[in-house]
Amino acid sequence: MSIFGTRPEIIRLSRIFAKLETNFEHIMVNTNQNFTPELNRIFFKDLKIRKPDYNLKVNTGNYGKEIGEIIEKSEKIILKEKPDVLLILGDTNSGLAAIPASHHGIKIVHLEAGMRAYDFRMPEEKNRVLIDHLSSVLLPYTNYSRENLIRENIHTSKIYVVGNPIIEVINYFTKQIENSSVLEKMKLGTKDYFLITAHRSENVDDPKSLEKIFSGLEKIHLKFKKRIIYPIHPRTLSKIKKKIPKCIECIKPLGFFDFTKLEKNAFCIITDSGTVPEEALFFGVPCVTIRESTERPEYIEAGGNILSGLEPDNLVKSVKLITSSKNKLEWINSLGDNKTSDRVANILSGKIERQKF
Ligand code: UDP
Repeated sequence: MSIFGTRPEIIRLSRIFAKLETNFEHIMVNTNQNFTPELNRIFFKDLKIRKPDYNLKVNTGNYGKEIGEIIEKSEKIILKEKPDVLLILGDTNSGLAAIPASHHGIKIVHLEAGMRAYDFRMPEEKNRVLIDHLSSVLLPYTNYSRENLIRENIHTSKIYVVGNPIIEVINYFTKQIENSSVLEKMKLGTKDYFLITAHRSENVDDPKSLEKIFSGLEKIHLKFKKRIIYPIHPRTLSKIKKKIPKCIECIKPLGFFDFTKLEKNAFCIITDSGTVPEEALFFGVPCVTIRESTERPEYIEAGGNILSGLEPDNLVKSVKLITSSKNKLEWINSLGDNKTSDRVANILSGKIERQKF
């Protein structure tokens, strides 16, 4: 059984689902944590994922209600279906289905294990630690994440480094990404624009932080004289109180093919997303992360990313610095290759068939 409910989970799991569907009896549970169609339903169609077996339709009105419903509703399905194993990816509230699963003795396999920002202000950091420590099998993307787990006394026999699944998704859909006509539709030229995403609670829940982001983007527009394209997350939209500066072109969230086409052709990407800096490095596009901490230091080490924080002047300096480098940005194979879904399926098969966790 896999339980998921947000945009990045659906995207990252898509090729793994393809493998599970043909080789296992696979029950798919969508919590609907990201409930708007452009953050959830659209990806099933585009990424060729079948309709899930269950939709928990969790109420995301507030934290307690959301977590409560995820636990209560996933428990019912877990007890009904009694899966051999529960597969969870990442650190969202949907992943907290690990709590009832663990309570009822269901083995948990955690993909994207071991990421640590060492910053407990992030709700995701709490979820990561909790899910990792409830899991029987931990599947980090990189050796860096594996080391984090070992430092927390998780036994090495439970850990397998499997690589980052996002690469497989981009490679599989290369043609569809190339065929996207989003540049023509938006009258954008290559390297002519900035691409923005920002939605993390520590950035958008406090109006002051959001204002800093907008003020930084205004300065970027003045300095670089390029268009600023911002597919805006509904979470962010719901928090905006003041008028958005005119120079920022806010559009609805895009489908995966249009969005990655925009990533590939951007002059620079400015984001607080976890996945977007990975995709930026894959496409060799400079990226500035507007956060105070990151669980993905590998992308900074690869030379593709600056962690700028939110201060407007610092954002401008960071963009200037990273876009002035003459070095070619390159994806490093050790971060992920095209074999993640094979590895995940092989590990699951070995464990389930022998019931040895
Ligand atoms: N994405 C998309 N359309 C958009 C913005 C992002 O398809 O308008 C994709 C993007 O390519 C990446 C994923 O959504 O694969 C990132 O999701 P998000 O930033 O919401 O989550 P995070 O990675 O921070 O967990």
